[in-house]
Amino acid sequence: MTFEEIKQGEETYIMHTYGRFPIALDHGKGATLWDTEGKKYIDLTSGIGVNSLGHDNDALTTAISEQAHKLMHACNLYYTEPMVQAAKKLVDAAGMGKIFFANSGAEANEGMIKLARKYSFDKYGEGRNKIITLKQSFHGRTVTTLKATGQDKFHQYFFPFTEGFDYAAANDIEDMKRKIDGTTCAVMMEMIQGEGGVLPLDKEFVQATAEFCKEKDILLLIDEVQTGIGRTGSLFCYEQYGVQPNIISMAKGLGGGVPIGAVMADKKCQDVLGAGTHGTTFGGNPLCCAAANTVLDIVNKPEFLKSVQEKGEYLKKEILAIGSPKVKTVRGMGLMLGIVVDKDERAAMVSQLMEKGVLVLTAGTEAIRLLPPLVITKEEMDEAIAAMREVF
Ligand SMILES: *Cc1c(COP(=O)(O)O)cnc(C)c1O
Repeated sequence: MTFEEIKQGEETYIMHTYGRFPIALDHGKGATLWDTEGKKYIDLTSGIGVNSLGHDNDALTTAISEQAHKLMHACNLYYTEPMVQAAKKLVDAAGMGKIFFANSGAEANEGMIKLARKYSFDKYGEGRNKIITLKQSFHGRTVTTLKATGQDKFHQYFFPFTEGFDYAAANDIEDMKRKIDGTTCAVMMEMIQGEGGVLPLDKEFVQATAEFCKEKDILLLIDEVQTGIGRTGSLFCYEQYGVQPNIISMAKGLGGGVPIGAVMADKKCQDVLGAGTHGTTFGGNPLCCAAANTVLDIVNKPEFLKSVQEKGEYLKKEILAIGSPKVKTVRGMGLMLGIVVDKDERAAMVSQLMEKGVLVLTAGTEAIRLLPPLVITKEEMDEAIAAMREVF
């Protein structure tokens, strides 16, 4: 199909829930992509933090095709080996208790919310079910995770939303303490608010919140859907904040491109969701877990995680070195970066970068968001920076 035919087909047959850029991607290698017209791009998006090992990674495509030949799906009525391997890798790496596999970030967060509420129900009975999230947060698109998302624009049309959420201002411990009351069972937050604008939380705030929660047996839930699996230079971002969450959710980068999410609980919470209380047909299927196993084997190594930090620092340094008045600052950690620019100029800058062969994302109102594959090479970064130099 030509690009025009694809575009026409999308117009006719696909619900128009997405604003799309005017290119159709066809194939990739590493952090380089080609569209259907043969134009080449440096990929600083990795499909919103998903293609952690880049495109056409040999280890990943081999693991997926070998598993596809053996068994793709078995459903959760039977035991399968790849699921247990992936669970062990994650639980051991994080020093947690047990894991539940799902298929997306929103679904992982749903599981995390259910787990937190049931923990409180089991221990304290009814009525202690409120979850405090942060303003500017993003937790997903289901009816419940939309309500967990602390941005008014997501609380439209789909009434009635799930009750029992309140929102504290990020980095304001006094506001957090005010919002927490006797009906609160958990606090849920991203360490770096991704969709909100690549906004890293302050360490003091996160630690003070964690301490306050611990005193009151309020669970600390960390949404690592975007920040997890090496994205910020540690397997999970919370490690860099020196806190110990009770439950974490993850998804995006975990499967390197196949849909998989997970909710992982510490020893205190690991047995809260018992038989019949939660489930999902596709969750933890052998195909997706084989992919996750490969991603984890590659990413969860000190040298690899260090390379993510170094690449992030290099990108940040080179972007600032352009010295453009259009770039106000670069924030973020590891390979999760936000270039803060003027609101009104951002859309034009993003299209100009695309014309020059660089794909970027946006976040919040003023950030150009970079989430390159973790395996991006220096040459690929330099090509992207050369284009930025022209555009900025
Ligand atoms: C993307 C994202 C989600 C939602 O994940 P989906 O896979 O799109 O459902 C939830 N939380 C955070 C922090 C995210 O970045």
